[in-house]
Amino acid sequence: MTAPQTADVVVVGGGLIGTAIAWRLRLTGRSVAVVTGERSAAASRVAAGMLAPVTETTYTEGPLLGLNQASMAQYGTFVAELEDCAGQPAGLRRVPTLSVAGNADDAAQLAALAGYLERLGLESVRLTSRECRRYEPLLSPTIRSGLLVAGDWSCDNRLLWAALIEACRRTGVVEVPGFAHQISSGKGQVDGVVLGDGTQLATSQVVLANGAWAAQLSGTPPIPVRPVKGQILRLDPVRLPAPSLTIRAFTSGHEVYLVPRESGREVVVGATVEELGFDPRVTAGGVYELLRDARQVLPVTAEYALSETSVGYRPGTPDNAPILGPCELTGLVLATGHYRNGVLLTPVTATAITQLIEHGSLPEVATGFTLDRFAGLPGAAELTRERA
Ligand SMILES: Cc1cc2nc3c(=O)[nH]c(=O)nc-3n(C[C@H](O)[C@H](O)[C@H](O)COP(=O)(O)OP(=O)(O)OC[C@H]3O[C@@H](n4cnc5c(N)ncnc54)[C@H](O)[C@@H]3O)c2cc1C
Repeated sequence: MTAPQTADVVVVGGGLIGTAIAWRLRLTGRSVAVVTGERSAAASRVAAGMLAPVTETTYTEGPLLGLNQASMAQYGTFVAELEDCAGQPAGLRRVPTLSVAGNADDAAQLAALAGYLERLGLESVRLTSRECRRYEPLLSPTIRSGLLVAGDWSCDNRLLWAALIEACRRTGVVEVPGFAHQISSGKGQVDGVVLGDGTQLATSQVVLANGAWAAQLSGTPPIPVRPVKGQILRLDPVRLPAPSLTIRAFTSGHEVYLVPRESGREVVVGATVEELGFDPRVTAGGVYELLRDARQVLPVTAEYALSETSVGYRPGTPDNAPILGPCELTGLVLATGHYRNGVLLTPVTATAITQLIEHGSLPEVATGFTLDRFAGLPGAAELTRERA
């Protein structure tokens, strides 16, 4: 398809976030173009696809919990509408998550998490070792305790993404291959996007949804997003049994997760968390640690085929929450910084950004996530200096 010269909205970035926003905006009748970037580099491709508002909760991310829960509440409807539009499955599995603990210290850590979740009123059930293995017979007999979380599901992010791309195609979103280089503006108002090859797209409305690369365009205010590298594996059980639930584990002080797909043909094992910038290396140590930890929790994984090793870049922010909404440049809307939860946050982000562009304001649940919450933060200032 050839690039349009004008569109009502140009979305920069064709990962899960950009594609979902483009589809939802197109349904409002606007003409929409997506500058796709490099799909093989997207975090949306490598992610594990856990939808985990409860088990991802940490002691310091209270505000994010409400947004995560809001997105989870929208997931079923979002996927049903998407499958209807795209005519293909979007990968949602309404299957609980089982968090388990290996040794005594791990069990203490899990018990502390359980207590925290109970204080927050989040539903979870504490399990003994034997009860854990009743839910998941493949678990190692050394597992000491567990926590069953019925409300944390998973979604095969590759199926979800393929369905979103197809929904965009069917509804007439225009795909523009290539990279945006600059957001152009005059008198404080966006007037277009300039691509790396010099192509110009005229528009009064740009949605910046290019994940970990959000800070790299010229013509935007400083955006405190950094890449947080994650190495992740895909195992193929071949003819061996696969776990039925998502398993998360504290094992000898490490954290690992195993996310099975509905087909039984893939188990995703992740993931490292590394502050190394855009470092594309899959390392021997990274793969070793993931396989070692997976085997401690689920011994059968040692017999699975190792079908894929990959690296992705989580779009990290200073408070681990996304950046959603308007900024000082009129017509530029931000939808980035989804860090560890971008698959989970896809529905609420698409809904919030569509409402903003259609009605001029974010829904209440998203109002705390605008860029201005970082005003004056050292991280933002450093970014400005680096870019100058
Ligand atoms: C190892 C790992 C495991 C994860 N597991 C989970 C999980 O279980 N659950 C969960 O909810 N989240 C998970 N995440 C997080 C999730 O993957 C991300 O938050 C989410 O995919 C971000 O989506 P995005 O569309 O913003 O960015 P991306 O998917 O990274 O897409 C951004 C796209 O923009 C393109 N681009 C870059 N620059 C430009 C430009 N200048 N012009 C045009 N395009 C451009 C890129 O090429 C890329 O294709 C995981 C992430 C990683 C790395």
